[in-house]
Amino acid sequence: MARHKTQDAGLVSQMRTRLAGVSSKAWRRLLAAEKRRRGVAPGRLVFVGIHNVADVWWCAERAVRKAREREARFFGAYLRDRIGYSLELGRVERLPHRMEDWLTVGEDLTLSDINRLLAARRKRLHDDGRAVVAEARDDVLFVDPALSEDKKEWCAEWARTMGWELASADEDPSVYREMLLLREGERYPTIRWQFAWEGYVLVGVPDGLTDELVYEFRVAHADQVARRFVKPVATAQADLLAQFFRRPTRRVQIHVTASGKTYTLSGLADRERASLTLRTFGEVDAGQPPSPPAAWKCEPGRCEYVATCQVRRPAKDQ
Ligand code: SF4
Repeated sequence: MARHKTQDAGLVSQMRTRLAGVSSKAWRRLLAAEKRRRGVAPGRLVFVGIHNVADVWWCAERAVRKAREREARFFGAYLRDRIGYSLELGRVERLPHRMEDWLTVGEDLTLSDINRLLAARRKRLHDDGRAVVAEARDDVLFVDPALSEDKKEWCAEWARTMGWELASADEDPSVYREMLLLREGERYPTIRWQFAWEGYVLVGVPDGLTDELVYEFRVAHADQVARRFVKPVATAQADLLAQFFRRPTRRVQIHVTASGKTYTLSGLADRERASLTLRTFGEVDAGQPPSPPAAWKCEPGRCEYVATCQVRRPAKDQ
């Protein structure tokens, strides 16, 4: 039954810790149970990241393959959010004992609830808005390459003490993007949420979300790459997020590392383009052959699927 007071923060964090400890095997078992509950075949793709859908503007074949590979991860995000937000809003007091019963928690959450949670995060952002200069992931300390030498030395000492490897953040695109977002991007609160579309559950988290806009931040190494190849994907993702979160406008920034410039594209979200992106993803997932992308995207080292891909242009065209 719905309760109106918000849940104790300590209890919420305790439950989140328990969820974080669930093994990947258990998540896969739950995913299979959820597909049975929805009456869909085990092999049918359901849980997809919105950024994977937007990637059809890079290569539709790669977008669909990646989405299939990551389905269990997005299912985990879907369920953790439903449970975590239900606890945060005081809709449930604790996790049900049987894991299968977790699947129905949060069914009653609406976008208004998510907007309420976003408003709370907006207040919090002013309290802890600091830039990250180093981040530890899986025993590796990634350090911002723009740090001064003495700060890098301080990080190296920290890594030695902790027994971590030391790496420059630009060696991992996702870590580097997040660091640059904090250093070069604009600061907004945000929240992850999920949306139903044609039998899929699309999970998305903008880099920023206000009542009026979604904000998306990307990194490119050169101007030409930013304009020709990163911009279509970034704007498509922002259009999708604006459509699902029901925000009228989108703001996209692309930071170019070679020049240090940041391009900004602002305007009304393009609903037709969002529909085209969704349609393209759905058709390729259903088996329709996609158009091959620019040949250089299929070079070994740029695409992990090159050895098994039938879509790329034949060598004579490259
Ligand atoms: S090899 Fe080329 S066509 Fe195939 S998935 Fe990769 S980028 Fe796409």
